[in-house]
Amino acid sequence: MNLKVAQTLRKIVGEDNVLELLEDILPYTLDASIIYRGVPTCVVRPHSTEEVSEIVKFANEQRIPVIPRGAGTNFVGAVVPSNGGIVIDLTGMNRIIEINPANLTCTVEAGVVHAKLESELAKYGLYWPPDPGSSDACTMGGVIAMNAGGMRALKYGTTRDWVLSLKVVLPNGEVIKTGSKTFKGNAGYDLTRLFVGSEGTLGIITEATLKLRPIPEAENRISAYFDSIEKAGAAVSKIYMAGIVPAAMELMDRGIITAVSKWLGKKFPDMDAYLIVSVDGLRSEVETLSNKVEQVLKESGASQVLRATTKEEFDEIWLIRSEGATALPNITGKMNVTHDVCVPINKLPEAFKTIREICNKYGIPVAIVSHAGDGNVHAIFSVNLQDPEESARAKKAHDEMCRYIIKIGGTISGEHGIGIDKAELLVEEVGPVAMELMRAIKRVFDPNNIMNPGKMGL
Ligand SMILES: Cc1cc2nc3c(=O)[nH]c(=O)nc-3n(C[C@H](O)[C@H](O)[C@H](O)COP(=O)(O)OP(=O)(O)OC[C@H]3O[C@@H](n4cnc5c(N)ncnc54)[C@H](O)[C@@H]3O)c2cc1C
Repeated sequence: MNLKVAQTLRKIVGEDNVLELLEDILPYTLDASIIYRGVPTCVVRPHSTEEVSEIVKFANEQRIPVIPRGAGTNFVGAVVPSNGGIVIDLTGMNRIIEINPANLTCTVEAGVVHAKLESELAKYGLYWPPDPGSSDACTMGGVIAMNAGGMRALKYGTTRDWVLSLKVVLPNGEVIKTGSKTFKGNAGYDLTRLFVGSEGTLGIITEATLKLRPIPEAENRISAYFDSIEKAGAAVSKIYMAGIVPAAMELMDRGIITAVSKWLGKKFPDMDAYLIVSVDGLRSEVETLSNKVEQVLKESGASQVLRATTKEEFDEIWLIRSEGATALPNITGKMNVTHDVCVPINKLPEAFKTIREICNKYGIPVAIVSHAGDGNVHAIFSVNLQDPEESARAKKAHDEMCRYIIKIGGTISGEHGIGIDKAELLVEEVGPVAMELMRAIKRVFDPNNIMNPGKMGL
């Protein structure tokens, strides 16, 4: 790093908060995508909005790329410094500034870990509905910048539905506040929602005010096995058609069931798919909903329908879901490469079948975990990333899968975002005119293209 850059950054954040040695910056060269790598010039760890503002202002003057980073748990290379530059690690900005039960809101700094916020809110009987599976690690800044979803999205929506206001450092160092602490707001364009899901390409979120809900009084789980994944997919629509909106509907295929069975040494039924339906609300309501779900599952051809009646059963039902991602690489001996697409719910049966066919064609083993209730499918490819030929086949299978998903009216990302991974495919989904509009928006915010360049095709 050149001397002037080093001296300026040290002056802003202090000596200890500028990392330059290779051994220190190594963890910042990759993220959970595993595939993508890039070496930053340095890493800085600010502790206030003012520090972030000064860093960004300086980087903009010097035309140095900046990459805002939370926990690095995204799957699409969204924090990989592919063009070098300054990684801004926001995990040190981790204060919960306010929890306001009377207004059903809280205000947090960007580096607050999702699970930490969840446990603090629980003390007030409150929660923030989006629930990414990476809760123990991911930061609220990362969650907001990726518009993360999770299991409850079918009933409660994604991050975008639960953010009221943001404090953002723009690429020229100016600080703005978007939105307000109110549940309604019609004051001009909705900049809050523009920043949600912008993957660090428009500005750096330093604070967020979030909308909260009281924790539901009760929750229950009902599980079922199916002899075909298509049948399980069809059951999802039937549950809605019976007038039920569950809190979650999670589907795992044979690949996951078998891997967990081998991994834990536990015997599960020899079936093609496993569906978990979770219902929440008032205790009396949950009882009625559970009865109805049980009935619909049986009518949809499920076998071994289990409705939790004890805490042990409630946890046991979740086992295949919670252990799947860990079990798979341990059993296959290959890496999990997780791909995220979303289809109209009525197309789920067809999509499951076609994704398997595409992967078969390219000789890539695939296991499916699906937030089936909102059509979100995670196709987990088992790939030996050391083998360039196998990696190239996996890439072809991925691209063909995405093109098929676009053709049936789906989207190439339900919740994991675009990053580097899907940058080239984005234009195929949104079209050249919308893509150019996105580039134009980016230019308005960031004319020097310093903010996380190369992500989202920008
Ligand atoms: C085991 C596992 C389970 C997961 N489950 C889910 C799931 O259920 N649902 C889901 O949606 N995702 C899931 N993910 C993906 C990932 O955890 C989410 O995208 C998460 O929101 C990323 O948060 P992070 O702090 O790790 O962000 P990072 O990966 O560090 O960053 C993600 C993006 O946000 C930008 N960014 C980070 N902080 C800021 C900021 N303060 N201001 C502006 N931009 C910023 C970065 O530049 C980057 O573009 C999972 C990942 C793993 C590994």
